[in-house]
Amino acid sequence: MSTSRRSFVIQSITGAGALACVALPHAAFAQALTDADPQAVALGYKADGTKTDTKKYPKYAAGQNCASCALYQGKPADATGGCPLFGAKKVAGKGWCSAWAKKA
Ligand code: SF4
Repeated sequence: MSTSRRSFVIQSITGAGALACVALPHAAFAQALTDADPQAVALGYKADGTKTDTKKYPKYAAGQNCASCALYQGKPADATGGCPLFGAKKVAGKGWCSAWAKKA
């Protein structure tokens, strides 16, 4: 194999690898929001909404969760989904935070 052909092959392979990385959906790298995240703490987020401190957040009512929130970007049946309040981090469908708003 000539040097130019070899370098073309190497460049093609590394180029394809780079494209594969770019083509992977962003969701594959999305981190799950944890209860300990400072912004989660600030908004009273719990990945298991039933563990919400109802003394601190009396607004919470059984049955409310991210999946039924107007801000939830996943489908209602999705285990996790996006929420504009937490950037790229995914919230749990069963989660809850004090910004919960009933889906229309
Ligand atoms: S705003 Fe809604 S979807 Fe976002 S974390 Fe709070 S309850 Fe969940």
